[in-house]
Amino acid sequence: MTVTDRIGEQPYWQTRSCGPWCEAVHTDEDVFEDRVCCGQSRVVPLTLEPCTPDGSDKAKSRPAVFSVELVQQYEAAAPHISVLRSALDEPIRFTRMSPDEADELGDYLKELAKFARGTA
Ligand SMILES: [Zn+2]
Repeated sequence: MTVTDRIGEQPYWQTRSCGPWCEAVHTDEDVFEDRVCCGQSRVVPLTLEPCTPDGSDKAKSRPAVFSVELVQQYEAAAPHISVLRSALDEPIRFTRMSPDEADELGDYLKELAKFARGTA
């Protein structure tokens, strides 16, 4: 049986179905590191951060960004929220949060945003 014959079926290594949020394409050929469910990421430019020149083209520059997505590693019991900070001139930094931690942080960020806007 080839991969083509198995379209619509789970790869041999997957012991449960993906969550409805997973947008990954899984195949029998996925190596261990690629056996990850991940959802659509949301990218938030950090406009208060300094912009970094984009390589050799000094006319272009980009701010650092946060990229947030739901991820579930192969054989993990539950997904986690992955927060990635990246900028062109620094190493990418990852943070993982449980759903409860993400709720707590999200609630507090919303509260702070209301204070910052004067709407609290
Ligand atoms: Zn998946």
